[in-house]
Amino acid sequence: MIVIVTGGAGFIGSHLCTHLVNEGNEVVCIDNFYTGMETNLEHIADNPHFKLIRHDIIEPIELRADRIYNLACPASPVHYQADPIRTIKTSVFGALNMLEFARKNSARMLQASTSEIYGDPHEQPQTEHYWGNVNPVGIRSCYDEGKRLAETMCFEYKRQYSADIRVARIFNTYGPRMAVDDGRVVPNLINQALKGQSLTVYGDGSQTRSFCYIDDMVDGLIRLMESDYSESPVNLGNPLELSILDVVELIQKLTGIKGEVVFRKLPEDDPARRKPDISLARRVLNWNPKVSIEKGMRETIEYFRQEPHIGHD
Ligand code: NAD
Ligand code: UDP
Repeated sequence: MIVIVTGGAGFIGSHLCTHLVNEGNEVVCIDNFYTGMETNLEHIADNPHFKLIRHDIIEPIELRADRIYNLACPASPVHYQADPIRTIKTSVFGALNMLEFARKNSARMLQASTSEIYGDPHEQPQTEHYWGNVNPVGIRSCYDEGKRLAETMCFEYKRQYSADIRVARIFNTYGPRMAVDDGRVVPNLINQALKGQSLTVYGDGSQTRSFCYIDDMVDGLIRLMESDYSESPVNLGNPLELSILDVVELIQKLTGIKGEVVFRKLPEDDPARRKPDISLARRVLNWNPKVSIEKGMRETIEYFRQEPHIGHD
């Protein structure tokens, strides 16, 4: 199959491209390198079944494809808040362009949505039925509302044009090839520990997240793309819920480095809790994350030990 991965030079996209090429597909990565890096793809760059196109999905593109994974969008709060209008354009115009592309090609498109569409949730854990609690005008809204509108467009394209869509609500995912300057909590804390710097905890560190290792996420995304299920979005994530202080402790234990912890101001609208209910993914995709947090963190720490400079700094 010809498979397009937008955002393929980013963290999740580069793992997905690698997996899809290894499975024997013709893979086309579309990326504008806003947060992605060519180094993430250098191991498949010379593969005849892989092609890289530098393009911004805010603009339409004409190609041929059977499958489209629409992942292009900065995902770290630091990056998506740096140029909020651009984030909105990528989420909205980008998804619209890729949906049009999918419709014209009769291709199937999987939209990378996010647990952020639940905002600061009042329900715990979050099921796909929960509509969320999002501030429409806060500093996270460019991303949250952009992704919510992208979901709306997917389901309107399905209703109005019978478009073949899948929507994955991705919860916090981590692993090798996150950029050293990505800004999200796992790369921040690991790199701070390895460099002997203070570990930055925002707020009091009692807020929770549920972290999914990249290999499990790639498996879930491919299963969703190839499944018959398209009736609703599907949560993909690891239900193990940890506070940020738990993450600090784990990283201190696994690196053997007991860095000093410094507390910084909690960013506006930072969700207090986040934990996926993945019953739907278990039922319709027969998917369950397999990699333990210890194993996933060890792999990630090892990556940053070996590649301490791969980032945009
Ligand atoms: P990332 O920032 O590492 O990758 C995003 C990629 O998209 C980068 O390669 C970037 O250059 C590219 N990109 C951004 N804007 C673009 C544009 N206008 N045109 C073309 N390319 C563009 O982020 P990631 O963690 O790999 O996230 C990938 C997708 O998964 C995003 O859509 C994100 O919203 C979603 N997601 C990720 C997580 C997570 O924890 N990693 C959680 C929820 C949702
Ligand atoms: N966080 C932190 N220290 C950091 C970076 C992030 O304590 O150096 C916190 C952040 O405030 C949030 C959680 O860790 O509560 C996860 O943040 P991240 O940016 O990884 O992703 P989010 O789930 O907020 O989009």
